[in-house]
Amino acid sequence: MNTFYQNHETLPVIDEYDVIVTGGGMAGISAAVAASRLGVKVLLLERHIGLGGLATSGLIAYFLPICDGEGTIVSTGICQELYELAVQDSDKEGPFNKRSRSFGNEEGRYEVQFYPMNYQLSLSQYLHDNSVDRLYGVIASTPVIEEGTCVGLIVEQSEGRICYAATSYIDASGECSLFSRTGVETVAGSNTMSSWYYTSSSANPYELHSIGADAPTSFDLVERGNVKAYCGATSTDLTEFILDSENLIRNNENNTENQYRNIAILPSIAQLRTIRRIKGTSELTEDSINSPCNSSIGCVSDWMTCGKIFEVPAGILYSEQISNIIAAGRCVSATGYAYEILRCIPQACMTGQAAGTIAGLMVNNDMKSISDLSIVVLQDQLVRDGVKLHYL
Ligand SMILES: Cc1cc2nc3c(=O)[nH]c(=O)nc-3n(C[C@H](O)[C@H](O)[C@H](O)COP(=O)(O)OP(=O)(O)OC[C@H]3O[C@@H](n4cnc5c(N)ncnc54)[C@H](O)[C@@H]3O)c2cc1C
Repeated sequence: MNTFYQNHETLPVIDEYDVIVTGGGMAGISAAVAASRLGVKVLLLERHIGLGGLATSGLIAYFLPICDGEGTIVSTGICQELYELAVQDSDKEGPFNKRSRSFGNEEGRYEVQFYPMNYQLSLSQYLHDNSVDRLYGVIASTPVIEEGTCVGLIVEQSEGRICYAATSYIDASGECSLFSRTGVETVAGSNTMSSWYYTSSSANPYELHSIGADAPTSFDLVERGNVKAYCGATSTDLTEFILDSENLIRNNENNTENQYRNIAILPSIAQLRTIRRIKGTSELTEDSINSPCNSSIGCVSDWMTCGKIFEVPAGILYSEQISNIIAAGRCVSATGYAYEILRCIPQACMTGQAAGTIAGLMVNNDMKSISDLSIVVLQDQLVRDGVKLHYL
C-alpha cells in the first residue's frame, strides 16, 4: 500500500468567535440562537447549503409532540418557537395541510407534519433575525486540543483548510464530528433501513412516502436482530445504506399501481436515525421516565405514550474529558429506549437550547470550563428564556 507524508501545516486563524456551532440541523439552530440571544458572537458551520438537517434536507418533515398528550406543552422555549414556525409552514390550503398522527391520543397532540422546503427558508430567516453568522459548504473537521481544551477548529472548504477559534464549541453534527476526534468516548449507532421521499401525480401533486423496516421504533427491530442493521459512521457503510435505500424506492415506484406518478424529491441527507453519540457525564436511560431531576435542563415527552416525560439532566451534554465542547441533538448521551425518544426533533431543539445557553454563559462569565458553570445559574437562565424544567 502507498503511503503519503504530509508536511506539518501552519493554518492561520482567520476569525475568532465566542461560540462556534457545528451543524445547522434543528439542534444547531436552537443552540446558535440561544447563545446569540445572550449577546455573544456566534458562527454556525454547515456542510450542506441549507438549514434543518434531517428535518428538511432529510425530508423528515414531522415535528413529533411537544406536549404530554394530556393537553400540557412540556417542551417550551425555542422548541415551541420552532414548532410554531413549522405549523406556519404546514397550515395552508392545498396539499400541504397540517396533519397529525396523534401518537397515543385520538384527540390530537401538539405535533405537525410540515412542508420541508418552506421550513428550510423559514429557518434561515429565523437565524438571520437572531443575528447568527453562518458558513455553508464547510466541514468542521478537526478540533485543536490543548490540555483538554479546544483552542481552535480546523475547517475544510473548497479553497483548502482554515482555522477558526472560539471560547466554546457546540457539536450538533448529528454524528459527533467534533467529539469523535478529541478522544472523548463515543458510541456508534445501529439503524434499520428507512426511506422517506415525495412523489407527484395529477391525483396528488405532493405526497410523502415513508417506507422501510416496519416496526414501531427502529430500536425494537435492531434489538430483535431480525433485520439488516447499518451504522453509518463510515463512508462505506453510509454508501451501502444509500444504495439499498435507492433500490427500495426504485422497487416501490416500479410497482404497477404507482406508474402514474414521478419522484418529486429525494433526501439529500442519509436517513440514519443514529450515527454516533457521546458517553457523557450522565447518560439518560428509560428508568428516568417520570422521575424528577435536580439538574434538569428541560422536559421532553415520550412521544410514543401519553403522560410520560423525561426531565433531562445537564450531564448528558458534556464529558469530563473535554472542557469546552458541548453536545446537542443526536450527539447527546442516552441509551436504548431513552435515546430513541431523545434523538427526535423536539428533543434536538430542547438540548440545542441548553447547549447554546451553556456556551453563552461560559463566554459572559469568562469561564474556561463547563464545570465552572453552576447548575443554578444555568437553570435560572433557561427559565428566563422560557424553558420548563420540571413536569412532576
Ligand atoms: C427515518 C427517520 C425517521 C424519523 N422520524 C422522525 C419523526 O417522525 N419526527 C421527529 O421529530 N423526528 C424523527 N426523526 C429524527 C429527527 O429527524 C432527527 O433526529 C433530528 O432532526 C436530528 O436533528 P440534529 O440537529 O440533531 O441532527 P441533523 O438533522 O443530523 O443535523 C446535523 C447537521 O450537521 C451537519 N454536519 C454534520 N457534520 C458536519 C461537519 N463536520 N461540519 C459541518 N456540518 C456538519 C449536517 O449536514 C446536518 O445538517 C427521524 C429520523 C429518521 C432518520
